[in-house]
Amino acid sequence: MLKPKCLDGRQSYGFTNVEGGYILPCCHCDTKDGYVEFESLIQEKFKITNVDSIEEILHSEEWQDFYDTLINRPTKAPDTCQKFCSHHYVKKEITYTDPEGRIRHKKY
Ligand code: SF4
Repeated sequence: MLKPKCLDGRQSYGFTNVEGGYILPCCHCDTKDGYVEFESLIQEKFKITNVDSIEEILHSEEWQDFYDTLINRPTKAPDTCQKFCSHHYVKKEITYTDPEGRIRHKKY
């Protein structure tokens, strides 16, 4: 199950300087593979220097379609999203001893 962090306020936009600068849905997209998966969002017309406002990018058909995919067609979302925003993604796992001396594991 996909739980997009970019839609619930837990993940801010990313930015890449590649070829002049583009915003990205989040920092996880800022990889060589990510540029391929998110190529519809980093077209020349979305370069920071080619728009008057960030809203112009975010309200575009391509960005709206991307968000629609996350919400309504999550199985079609990019692999990057499937990896970092799936309900089973574990960012960090810690082991600790509780006050009763039992070993505990917690996943975040
Ligand atoms: S990985 Fe995809 S779904 Fe998750 S925050 Fe980034 S763009 Fe959104």
